[in-house]
Amino acid sequence: MDGLGLDKYHIPHTCEKCGGAMIFKGVGEYHCERCDEVAYDDYGKVRLYVEQHPGATVVETENATGVSRKTIRQLLREDRLEVTADSRAFLTCQSCGIPIRSGSFCPQCEVKHQKRVEELRHRSMTEGMQGRGMGETAGQEGAKRFTRDR
Ligand SMILES: [Zn+2]
Ligand SMILES: [Zn+2]
Repeated sequence: MDGLGLDKYHIPHTCEKCGGAMIFKGVGEYHCERCDEVAYDDYGKVRLYVEQHPGATVVETENATGVSRKTIRQLLREDRLEVTADSRAFLTCQSCGIPIRSGSFCPQCEVKHQKRVEELRHRSMTEGMQGRGMGETAGQEGAKRFTRDR
């Protein structure tokens, strides 16, 4: 129907091996009518990669498929990537904006966020230091906080 509009996804028209015509097989996949070589357009590449790598980020997908981030986002916006639409593969951290696999924050911001929550809770509840239980991870942050507070 809108064959022209789809051309931006680098649809393979001729076979790289024998030069035969590529026949559309669905979901971005094309087969050579002569030698059965398989090729994919951008949508097919991204879809295939995401299927094989559930939880892949946009950057990982871009690097692996060679399809630009812009095109990937476009595919998402057009809802052509139903595979990833409901997966959490293309979330970004609410704090720093880097791609994340799950939740609302990247691991680093998650730690900061948790610390802030804990700190606030701590302050409002008690001045005591009992049961903080973050000995291993609190090292640097803890030191900073200490000097800031005094
Ligand atoms: Zn061929
Ligand atoms: Zn972050």
